[in-house]
Amino acid sequence: AYRAAATPIVIVGHVDHGKSTLIGRLLYDTDSLQDGKLAQIVESSRKRGLAVEWSFLLDSLQIERDQGVTVDSTRIPFRLGSREFVIVDAPGHRQFLRNMITGAADAEAAVLVVDAQEGAQEQTRRHAMLLRLIGIRHVIVLLNKSDVLGFDEAKIVQAESDVRQLLGRLEIEVEAVVPASARDGDNIASRSERSAWYKGPTLIEALANVPPPTSRLSLPFRMPVQDVYRFDGVRYVAGRIERGTVRAGDRLAIGAQGQIATVAEVCRWHAPELPVAGAGESIALRLEPDLVPDRGDLLFPADDKASAPERSARIRTRLFWLRGEPLRVGESFTLRLTTAEHDVTVASIDAVVDLDDLTLRQGDEVPPDGFAEITLAASHAVLFDPFSPGMGDGRGVLVDRHQRIVGGAPLIGPAELEDGVHAIH
Ligand code: GDP
Repeated sequence: AYRAAATPIVIVGHVDHGKSTLIGRLLYDTDSLQDGKLAQIVESSRKRGLAVEWSFLLDSLQIERDQGVTVDSTRIPFRLGSREFVIVDAPGHRQFLRNMITGAADAEAAVLVVDAQEGAQEQTRRHAMLLRLIGIRHVIVLLNKSDVLGFDEAKIVQAESDVRQLLGRLEIEVEAVVPASARDGDNIASRSERSAWYKGPTLIEALANVPPPTSRLSLPFRMPVQDVYRFDGVRYVAGRIERGTVRAGDRLAIGAQGQIATVAEVCRWHAPELPVAGAGESIALRLEPDLVPDRGDLLFPADDKASAPERSARIRTRLFWLRGEPLRVGESFTLRLTTAEHDVTVASIDAVVDLDDLTLRQGDEVPPDGFAEITLAASHAVLFDPFSPGMGDGRGVLVDRHQRIVGGAPLIGPAELEDGVHAIH
């Protein structure tokens, strides 16, 4: 009944290092282009008197999106054998960052595109930092435009070592560094004759090696309450299951107050005959006794203390700060976490990342577009699961009083348990 989900990947990198070209090339080489797309690209390239420009493919997807036609350029599916991948992308750099931190783009793996000749640039560092902060586990580096270096081994090995050093400082584990040419197709889907010295995987081999997303079904049950409604005189608690499974008879604790109820009935639209509902499904539960939880209350197993969510009014978070002005201690926001909204104040700024050399330092404020580790204080205990990759429920978003998203805030843990400044890890 449960289908393995497509593995979401992001493709990031400094502007002009070849992201769009790579996406076009990947779709072409994996035969994922929709009918007519290839002809369109070839035609428009020809009209401009150019060799085939793979990045036109993305432009054409974008146009369709703007016109409200079917294709969603923010989720581009492709297949490798029996495995499904989906490239999560967004028009525009800022929108992309927003999507990533708010979980609209919840990626399992990332391809960091680096121009082999230019090496890491400002956005390369920023994106690498972002990958670290949102906890992407599998990072593949594509040393693109290696054709410009003639696939020269010495030059490419030097470029590889520079990138590895940068990512090493962020404690990002690199799956592979692939010397490639997205434009010409070297080491993307097939091994290049121009780099006979290279013994590592092609990009597609490296992607195929990324393990499928860990199953949220096997984790302890979590469902944040979305709504409570009455139907034919019976009360139902509705929500989307974030983790685990639920069936009639399960004993659940509700919210920070921890009232306990038993599931009397699990209702859902599709497959109503199946007794178990699992992560990803939207369901309604009838509870006994007939309690009335609030929107945002978390339901979790009542009888398994070891797996209970964290409960604290002080939460340490990694912050990706998006506002045009700095953030200072004492400012107040709404922390949106799944369906819950909590009033929070910035209690301390614990460490700020210096984007030039990627070191952590003490700081009184987080600069615009900066990264930091901060402690948020709520007026009441908050139930939460610390962020882990591929899991949307530990990823908070800070919203100002005009309802603008000003920061992404994956939750690290309760602040009481930690002391002093410590590294982001
Ligand atoms: P993006 O801004 O990262 O999406 O970069 P694009 O995909 O738009 O590529 C920027 C420019 O680099 C375009 O003119 C591409 O044709 C060129 N380019 C992309 N990949 C390669 C490559 O592998 N080799 C060479 N020589 N040029 C490339």
